[in-house]
Amino acid sequence: MPVERLRAARFVQVSVLLGSHEAFVEHDPGAEHPESPDRLAAVRRGIVDAGVSDAVVPFAPRRATREELARVHDIGYVSRLEELCLVGGGRLDADTCVSPASYEAAVRSAGAGLDAVERLEHGDADAAFLALRPPGHHAVEGGAMGFCLLNNIAVTAAGLVARGERVLVVDWDAHHGNGTQAAFYESSDVMFVSLHQFPFYPGTGALGEVGTGDGEGATLNVPFPAGTAGDAYRMALDELVVPVAEEFSPTWLLVSAGFDAHRADPLTDLGLSASDFADLTERVARLAVPGRRIFFLEGGYDLEALASSAGATVAALVGIAYRPEPATTVGRLGSLGSARSGGPAAVVDAARSLHERHRRG
Ligand SMILES: [Zn+2]
Repeated sequence: MPVERLRAARFVQVSVLLGSHEAFVEHDPGAEHPESPDRLAAVRRGIVDAGVSDAVVPFAPRRATREELARVHDIGYVSRLEELCLVGGGRLDADTCVSPASYEAAVRSAGAGLDAVERLEHGDADAAFLALRPPGHHAVEGGAMGFCLLNNIAVTAAGLVARGERVLVVDWDAHHGNGTQAAFYESSDVMFVSLHQFPFYPGTGALGEVGTGDGEGATLNVPFPAGTAGDAYRMALDELVVPVAEEFSPTWLLVSAGFDAHRADPLTDLGLSASDFADLTERVARLAVPGRRIFFLEGGYDLEALASSAGATVAALVGIAYRPEPATTVGRLGSLGSARSGGPAAVVDAARSLHERHRRG
């Protein structure tokens, strides 16, 4: 190949929308809180370190409307949240506090996915990565929970369903996405797949939670024991999540991309590295066509791990292998275990059996 063409090929990159807003930094959950405004600077630094800044197109997300929020949330709760911020803020649960600026951050975080849908449909990029605060996947219909105020990914999924789309939600945050699961537990239009540490906060996400009514079989939980590493996640994706998702045949892919399953995270006990997140991104991104993929920041509380993991994720979306640390192959458990001996392999096996028993048709 002539040198000129080689050079041109090297600089041909797909672009990724990066949704973030100065309001997200203003949300103050309190001094020493792990969900700190510094997290967004870490994400930006990670993208620079990954060398993919040129492939990222920034945008400032719009607010979600009340009508859009009401598809997921009790509007009385939304009003109470706004009023609490207007009077100076306060505490919503044991570890969730708001400041005067939190409502603006929350409604823009909740609107970011809908804004990304509109931009992606306009042909602006192949995917979107939303660097949001506050996170969303624990927030339930009537309240805040676990650092989350409004359920950003659920508001986006509900907006897509209202237009007749079939939405795959993959949640790889270390904590189970209880709020997202609850929002679509009886729906056959949204498939919710979660890989998480279990038993752990918030207590939900057991194998037997498979959906109900029309939604039976459209919820898939992979509850991994503490210490699970990247090899088990790759196996779960290749042998379970990808085939199940392909059978669902989504028109949109939404990902709750928390990075607290990194082995350095101070709040959790899983064993992933930044390169494992690149591997997860490559596998998951293939589940929807370019232009119909949105990644939402959820957790991730070690700033270095968050930077390298978010950088590796965005780089994978751009099609560049950025691997600042090795992929993990054996977790603190010592092995995957066999289906009979327990461990992560047994969890994947049991999740597959339950899914086959409960899937419809
Ligand atoms: Zn989390």
